[in-house]
Amino acid sequence: MSRYWSDLARALKPYVAGEQPSGRTYIKLNTNENPYPPSPRVLEAVKNAINERLRLYPDPECRELRKSIAGFFNLGMDEVFVGNGSDEVLAFAFPAFFGPDKPLAWPDTTYTFYRTIAGLFRIGYETVPLSEDFSLPVERFFGKSGGIIIPNPNAPSGRYVPLEAIRSILDHNRDSVVIIDEAYVDFAGPSAAALIPEYPNLLVTQTLSKSRSLAGLRVGFALGQADLIRGIDRVKNCINAYTLDPLALAGAAAALQDRAYLEETVEKIRRTRARVSERLTALGFTVIPSQANFVFITHPRARAASLQQQLKERGILVRYFNEPRIDNYLRVSIGTDTEMDAFLQETAELVPRE
Ligand code: PMP
Repeated sequence: MSRYWSDLARALKPYVAGEQPSGRTYIKLNTNENPYPPSPRVLEAVKNAINERLRLYPDPECRELRKSIAGFFNLGMDEVFVGNGSDEVLAFAFPAFFGPDKPLAWPDTTYTFYRTIAGLFRIGYETVPLSEDFSLPVERFFGKSGGIIIPNPNAPSGRYVPLEAIRSILDHNRDSVVIIDEAYVDFAGPSAAALIPEYPNLLVTQTLSKSRSLAGLRVGFALGQADLIRGIDRVKNCINAYTLDPLALAGAAAALQDRAYLEETVEKIRRTRARVSERLTALGFTVIPSQANFVFITHPRARAASLQQQLKERGILVRYFNEPRIDNYLRVSIGTDTEMDAFLQETAELVPRE
């Protein structure tokens, strides 16, 4: 700890991202990236954006991209906020809507970045225990006056709740903001974005990092009624007016327009997910039913931490979280069929048979 750090910096518990290895080439199943390339239309748009206009600042309001997103969801442009990955969008949204006095609620097993942002902005929080099988106890989220954030599908479980569950949580929390983090929704079911006209307290966040194969471009967005969007925009403009560069703006707009490519990629991943889940179950794993681009698994006769280490030695990266409740689980991103066959083969050799 440096003597030059502020009290705030000393108290922070920064998020630890999954490993991005350099050197050895791994089969990377640890950060839920998409194994398929982005749409060719995205690459073309990014190339075209490499020109002398890079000397200019980009549009701080990101109008073209917001228009594309608004068109995709049948919303108005003033109902869309864009940022440098949905992590950044969430980091701006938290101080816009939540504070120290009333606790923000989220599931006890969820995306750990929420804890990080709450720490940075000194936002109080409480966790709502998930059921033993990681399903969401919907009623326990009723009447949370400090706000709510729930990923749907949840991470790292991969479980998805239908829109009726989201609707009832919204109905029972009319006076506080409910964020539904839909980073993985394209692999699951319908988006809660359809509920936005009915609920002024609903904010939906999504990302281009997963279903659209653009983790490297860093583009995420929030959807909500204009009043919520303006709140996030106020925070953003206190930190950085230009969060998206021209390459990201151009590539993201092209990605939104290529619906056919999105559907094709998502379908391939869903098919592989079903096959891998079946094979893992046959190997004795408990596989939490996943609607995301990863599976969350545990084995009664193998320690997750050592399995992760052994897989790494064999050239395969998967994610292990040393957190309460889930410290004997692994989260495995869905790769290509070839990658998953290699993972399944190595795993079959490592887990003890009955
Ligand atoms: N929400 C959840 C639940 C996630 O798992 C992730 C990816 N780690 C994100 C948000 C953020 O993704 P990005 O910043 O790449 O948009």
